[in-house]
Amino acid sequence: MVTPPKQSPATQAITAGRAHSGKSLAPALWASSTWESDGLDDANRRATSTRHNDFYSRYANPTVEQFEHAVAELEGAEAALAFGSGMGAIAATVFALCGTGSHIVAQRQLYAGTLAFLQGPCQRMGIDVTFIDVSTPGAFAEAVIPGRTMLVIAESPSNPRLELADLDELGSIRGPLTLVDSTFATPLGQQPLAHGVDISLHSATKGIAGHNDATLGVIAGDCDLLDDIWAYAVLHGSTPSPFDALNALRGIRTLGVRTRQQNESARSVAVMLADHPMVS
Ligand SMILES: *Cc1c(COP(=O)(O)O)cnc(C)c1O
Repeated sequence: MVTPPKQSPATQAITAGRAHSGKSLAPALWASSTWESDGLDDANRRATSTRHNDFYSRYANPTVEQFEHAVAELEGAEAALAFGSGMGAIAATVFALCGTGSHIVAQRQLYAGTLAFLQGPCQRMGIDVTFIDVSTPGAFAEAVIPGRTMLVIAESPSNPRLELADLDELGSIRGPLTLVDSTFATPLGQQPLAHGVDISLHSATKGIAGHNDATLGVIAGDCDLLDDIWAYAVLHGSTPSPFDALNALRGIRTLGVRTRQQNESARSVAVMLADHPMVS
């Protein structure tokens, strides 16, 4: 048997998440909220299974699942889990992993919504957050309280000021789980899991979907961890819409050319500004 050559990430983006579409190149839109079952035992089995994809769409949905498979493949992850928005992904993940008395370490340079969530609802629920400066080497690890810190949250590049976290440093932290909001990089720009980070998170509303026609969030990581987060997420209810998942999966098909052009355009603007007489 001939082993196919390893695809480049941009090519992977064109083919990822197609395994369950039969011979169709595009995914089917499963708008259904509910599936028929073959009686009470069958219904009960589906209701108590993890991520059963033809039971009830708050639990899982075949169209959303294809989007999740595509993100998992691009992130080099075992699995992915989608949410109704990026904030839905953040809120559900934090509340799945933390409770009253838990401690979180987070960088100060965060998307305004994430910052407001950590300073507002989290503090109100009795979750303590220590904010550190992402540009200080070792700051994340130094702020970890052994036995109490459940989660370390980075965002790289950060929104809006593009500050960078050292992903290797983050990935080497033992004890708490580590999470990177990788929205601005997209899965083609960086793969946090390859640096030892536990969870890569995206507002897929942004670069992943790319056409302003989807509001969606997604996390990628190990199967067991994501199953645990799912068990809470299914109750939290930040459920992704199948239509938005379909749009986001179509967006992924052009992620390679879009990120290449964005990088080129950003470089041109930077070069122009660097030589501009009115800029110091
Ligand atoms: C937009 C954004 C979010 C929130 O995502 P929504 O889809 O708007 O809920 C989270 N993190 C970053 C870095 C973002 O840019």
